[in-house]
Amino acid sequence: MRGGTFEFPYDKLLIATGAAPHVPDVPGTDLPGVMVLKNLDDGRKMKQFLQEIPVRKTVILGMGYIAMEMCEAMRAREIEVDMVKPGPVFIPWMNPQLASLVRKELEANQVGVHLGHLLHKIVKTEKGLKVICEDLILDCQMVLIAVGIRPCSELAEKAGLILGPSKSIAVDKKMLTSDENIYAAGDCSDAYHVVTGQKTWIPLALRANRAGWAVADNVLGAGIEVEGVAGTAVYKVFDLEVARTGLSVEDAKKHSFEPSEAVIESRTRAHTYPGGSPLFVEMVGDRKSGRLLGVHIVGKEGAAHRINAPAVALHAGMTVEEFSQTDLAYAPPFGPSWDPMLTASNQLLKGM
Ligand SMILES: Cc1cc2nc3c(=O)[nH]c(=O)nc-3n(C[C@H](O)[C@H](O)[C@H](O)COP(=O)(O)OP(=O)(O)OC[C@H]3O[C@@H](n4cnc5c(N)ncnc54)[C@H](O)[C@@H]3O)c2cc1C
Repeated sequence: MRGGTFEFPYDKLLIATGAAPHVPDVPGTDLPGVMVLKNLDDGRKMKQFLQEIPVRKTVILGMGYIAMEMCEAMRAREIEVDMVKPGPVFIPWMNPQLASLVRKELEANQVGVHLGHLLHKIVKTEKGLKVICEDLILDCQMVLIAVGIRPCSELAEKAGLILGPSKSIAVDKKMLTSDENIYAAGDCSDAYHVVTGQKTWIPLALRANRAGWAVADNVLGAGIEVEGVAGTAVYKVFDLEVARTGLSVEDAKKHSFEPSEAVIESRTRAHTYPGGSPLFVEMVGDRKSGRLLGVHIVGKEGAAHRINAPAVALHAGMTVEEFSQTDLAYAPPFGPSWDPMLTASNQLLKGM
């Protein structure tokens, strides 16, 4: 049922309301041409707008993965793009050396990157739209707001359910909320982080899907427990693959670890094999316990799938030393004989 009010009795209820884009509370965000991208309807609206209005320039508010992926979509249509965000750091969770590669990739594709500019308002002009920040004004015909999302947990909150990080609905490993007859799953709910053991809110597709399946099993009495998330994520920025799993140095400090970090440059293919390119790895470990805490990878190929090895290591609670002893595959088209994951762990061990 869409948009209506109804009453429906239940034995077991699942709340799977997802997340909604955050829209800054400033004038002009409701103007035609100011968009968010959350679902297929949003995508269709954007496509229709691009067909109807000659858009030469788009301003993207935000610099998360959706913002960066949309840069590529806009540039493929030869639309100029400027990205704006209030914070001073481009990708705060990533080592600056790796983050600068991502920024350079955007700039090499003529994307303007404007840090430290808080949005004041968006106004309509004769030629389209004007994005007004304190010391920056950008003319454009379209604005994409991609400044983050928030869990749709209002219903749960009103029902008195306990909320977790970022006001997501708190669930146990069986996806049960604080009410024994109500489950919650997906972007609206929280999860355990496998590295910290603490609750976290990381809205991504696999864990939403997995939680949904677990609820279906548990409603039928299976008693399935979902272990948790490592925050594994990948995205593409033009010709670069960006991948992460686990904790950044800052995350690690917040959770009382003593992080040590190694940043290495390796290759995507053996040096004897044509067509290789640099692959950069940031690896974080805990000085106290020796545990592997997190990995970030940036490169033109081999970053996205390579992240799965450290993700598994995080789930297994491996130390950096244990990870450095793993038997990872080698053949010249796919990497050096010492996989970049092993080179990074060997370097990290030296400083731990
Ligand atoms: C542009 C974009 C790209 C993405 N790319 C990736 C990616 O590459 N990898 C990845 O892992 N994740 C990605 N994600 C995130 C991924 O889409 C979400 O994690 C996933 O869809 C969450 O599933 P969900 O079922 O919890 O929520 P949703 O898919 O958001 O579904 C929630 C549903 O609940 C409905 N709803 C909300 N409130 C109510 C209510 N009160 N009553 C009834 N229904 C309600 C909504 O309309 C919606 O249909 C992307 C997201 C976006 C927006």
